[in-house]
Amino acid sequence: MDWDIVIGLEVHVQLNTETKAFCSCRVSYGDAPNTHVCPVCLAYPGALPVLNKAMVDSAVMLGLATRCRIRPYSTFARKNYFYPDLPKGYQISQYDDPICYEGHIDIAAGGKQKRIGLTRIHMEEDAGKSMHSEAGTRVDLNRCGTPLLEIVSEPDIASPEEAYQYLTTLKQIVRYTGISDCNMEEGSMRCDANISLKPEGQKAFGTRTELKNMNSFRNVERALKYEVSRQRKVLESGGNIIQQTLLWDERSGTTRSMRSKEESHDYRYFPEPDLSPVHIDKAWIEKISSTLPEMPEARKQRFMKDLRLSEEDASALTAEKETADYFEAVLKTFNAPRTVCNWVRNEILRIVSETGRSVRKVPVSAEALAELLVLLEKKEVTPQTAKLVLDEMASGGASAREIIEKKGLKPISDSGALESLIDRIFEANPELVRRFRDGETKLFGFFIGQVMRETKGQADPAATREIINQKLGK
Ligand code: ADP
Ligand code: MG
Ligand code: ZN
Repeated sequence: MDWDIVIGLEVHVQLNTETKAFCSCRVSYGDAPNTHVCPVCLAYPGALPVLNKAMVDSAVMLGLATRCRIRPYSTFARKNYFYPDLPKGYQISQYDDPICYEGHIDIAAGGKQKRIGLTRIHMEEDAGKSMHSEAGTRVDLNRCGTPLLEIVSEPDIASPEEAYQYLTTLKQIVRYTGISDCNMEEGSMRCDANISLKPEGQKAFGTRTELKNMNSFRNVERALKYEVSRQRKVLESGGNIIQQTLLWDERSGTTRSMRSKEESHDYRYFPEPDLSPVHIDKAWIEKISSTLPEMPEARKQRFMKDLRLSEEDASALTAEKETADYFEAVLKTFNAPRTVCNWVRNEILRIVSETGRSVRKVPVSAEALAELLVLLEKKEVTPQTAKLVLDEMASGGASAREIIEKKGLKPISDSGALESLIDRIFEANPELVRRFRDGETKLFGFFIGQVMRETKGQADPAATREIINQKLGK
């Protein structure tokens, strides 16, 4: 029998607000344990939460970016459970009236676009962290009260590959809005994956399991693949799927049971009495809407249509907002999209990956690259030398013009100097000269290469070509 795969993802994104969701403690990562805590996030009796407006701004921002409806009035609820790193004994979350609902994200699936529905996006606070070691377990409450958004998808995802695409696209969108860096390794993006199988074409869904503990998108995909085959085996041998939460074990590449699936009534949700409802009026939505940047897919389409870039180039340039911003900033001074695209993709992104820095921190500003490209166009530097100049710019911070002048990197177009160099090369390679004259024209490249090597790439390519042609009687 063939099976349909049904997947729905719950993604948590940690917001990069300055302070926590309901107190003025700093949001931090990697600081000494229990240094960003106060009576509110430590749950001292009588301490009262105060809503951080920046969390609401972020929720609305992401809601707009994913075409959600924004609820004019939404409330907070207490989700009760015991955990050593949750001193209140409950988490402040939203329950039946999340701030955003009925949105969608378009993903690439099998060469086409596919729309994945978003059920809801709601605001909640994070718990602290338990740190287990041989000596026992210690608790760090710095993360307690950090603002999160939970993004819940409809069960529209039909394969582990689509789940991977969904996560990649969602991360891209969130990063464009600037509300989170979505670093899965540092835990600022987390994903729980719900999955079930049903006989092909059947309407009713099968029983699902929920997978946790994946620390990369690839691991989400792998865990789902594993779970598809596990569920299929159970179903095909006549068994039933037990609804439960499973932990992915990266090392063995398998899942193991963590607990039977909890239902929402297990949490005894009730309205949070210490916070008033959030009222979002039109003006608030419009204000945020006006700061929403162009989203990655739209920007990619624009690059393809208006700038005539290939889909591959447009995707690479829009993968991160910083890269796209940088690219367009170079175009302001040097408006040759294809050339600039090549320089950004081949050189700037290379420097980014070599230095592990982001585009914004590369010491070559967009204006500085544009200056180099202008000099290249005016033939004040050769293409080969220009790359060396760029490397120099990246390590020193001097401008292209300064480096070219100071290091004497102007093109050598003086025909006297080039001629005597070329004569020397011919003399050293009489056999090759003979073969070239006998019609082995591809040797031309060899001679050019020799000239470039001797001049460290500074020989003017056009002048060099002309002189070689003349001398070889072409
Ligand atoms: P909870 O985890 O609180 O029980 P929901 O019931 O709202 O939450 O569902 C959580 C996620 O599980 C959603 O992304 C939803 O699309 C997905 N989901 C629900 N039913 C199924 C199913 N039968 N198979 C796969 N995914 C499912
Ligand atoms: Mg869940
Ligand atoms: Zn606090």
